[in-house]
Amino acid sequence: MTYSKVYIRIAAAGDFDRRFLLDFQKELQNSMWDNGIKATCIFSNSGMVEVDHIPSNAYTPHIGKYNTHSLFSYGQKKREDSIKKLGSANALIKVLVIVDVEIFKQGFTGTLFGEADVGENVAIISTAPLENHFKSSFLIKERALKEAMHELGHTLGLDHCKNPGCAMNISKDTYDIDEKKKKYCIDCLNILFQGHR
Ligand SMILES: [Zn+2]
Repeated sequence: MTYSKVYIRIAAAGDFDRRFLLDFQKELQNSMWDNGIKATCIFSNSGMVEVDHIPSNAYTPHIGKYNTHSLFSYGQKKREDSIKKLGSANALIKVLVIVDVEIFKQGFTGTLFGEADVGENVAIISTAPLENHFKSSFLIKERALKEAMHELGHTLGLDHCKNPGCAMNISKDTYDIDEKKKKYCIDCLNILFQGHR
């Protein structure tokens, strides 16, 4: 597979600072390019930063968190909107949903940092569990970028990986995230590019 044209629609929902989102967009794109993936990261068809409200049906009162099922539907709508603009021939349109509320999926009890729906080309990450006692938005952004590389990696065809530092390592907590880089290891890159880099 070649990655000359990957569009990553960033669908932001929540109470985000625009500066944070602009930095995140720029750095996500840079990280993709550092891995040889020539991705264009955009917030909307116009290119302007768009921030939505969290879809109201995502909140699940008895859990007190937001279900990823509804957030995937929200992401799919964004993807359809991008396909209308870019054309359906372009198969490599991914959506990254980023929210600032706690998320959960059925049957998973740990802290959920993100999830990917590989078939639908939608990835979700949450910044809520990335908060830290330093009150550092830089640290939140770094962690969010690693989790975005991880979940988008799934939509690009990567599985979990145990090589130290690889973005495809599983993270159970923020310490695990801090151990990772915004890079895929050589084994993962070989899977992505099948030796054609
Ligand atoms: Zn790897």
